[in-house]
Parts: sequence; structure tokens; C-alpha cells
Amino acid sequence: MAGGQVFAGWRPRIKLDKDMERFMGMAIGLAEQALAQGETPVGAVIVRAGEVLGTGYNRVEQDLDPTAHAELVALRAAGYKIGDWRLPRSTVYVTLEPCIMCAAALLHARVERVVFGALDHRWGGLGSLFDLAHDPRINHELQVVSGVMAEQAGRLLTTFFEGLRKGPRSETKACTH
Ligand SMILES: [Zn+2]
Repeated sequence: MAGGQVFAGWRPRIKLDKDMERFMGMAIGLAEQALAQGETPVGAVIVRAGEVLGTGYNRVEQDLDPTAHAELVALRAAGYKIGDWRLPRSTVYVTLEPCIMCAAALLHARVERVVFGALDHRWGGLGSLFDLAHDPRINHELQVVSGVMAEQAGRLLTTFFEGLRKGPRSETKACTH
């Protein structure tokens, strides 16, 4: 499936507020850093009361760690910064829909809201493949805003996967983020 289809689904009618623009812009900048390092370009920023608690970008390849997704890197940074793994009243801005692993971690961390860009139809845990935010069996409410600056976020991913298809390692790097 083409990257453009996998990560499609932006919603142009979302009205961006200043925070969304600022922090999603920051997350896109982090995704660009990941791309420059040969990683799948995903970036995440955790914010509470206007303060950035933690940031991260995907580091799976360099850390040889399948859990080193942008959101989890940011969660660890935030926990370290404030000395608490619980992050109530925080918002996570992430360029791609969190996968099921990250969505579960965000629920564990008591995050209040997730604002994400592109949809991830392969691994998405907040609406695409599973919808952990609205599962009545899970006793935590997570607000979700999707499609924020999704075109920019999705373009980075499409560029990355197109590069992989053309590159010499295309047969060994199937897809993950
Ligand atoms: Zn993930």
C-alpha cells in the first residue's frame, strides 16, 4: 500500500488554535530530525499548562528498540523531568496517530488529551485500527483530536517510505514506526 494511502485522512476543517500550531509545529520539527537520522519520521511533544514536559522522536533503529516510538521517548523524558510517571492534565501532540502500544502507554500515564496529525491505518490505536480512547472496558478517558497539520506530517512519512522503496535496503525495511 502506498504511503499516501496508509497515512491518509487529514481533516481540513479542523480549526487550529495557537497551541496546536505551535506544538504540532514542534512535533513536526522533531519528526524531521528523525527523518534526517534515517528513522521513520514521527515526533511527539507533551505539554501541560503551556509548559513542554517532554519531547521525543522515533529512535527505533538507533536504539535497536521496538518500543522507542516518539510518544514513549517523550513520556520517559516527561517522567524524568517532573519526577512522576503520571501526567494528568497533559496534552500529547504527535505527528502520527499513536500505535496500539503507545495509545495504551498514554492511557497508563493518565494523559488527558492527544492531538495527532496523520492517521495510521496499519497500527493506529486511536481510531484507525483500534479505538482505545473510547473503549468502555478501559477505565480512563482520553480526548482525541485528529488530523491536525496532517498533510505536513503525512508528507514526511510518504517521503520516507518512498525513499525506502527506492533505496538499497528496501527489502529489509518493511515498515514500522
Ligand atoms: Zn507507537
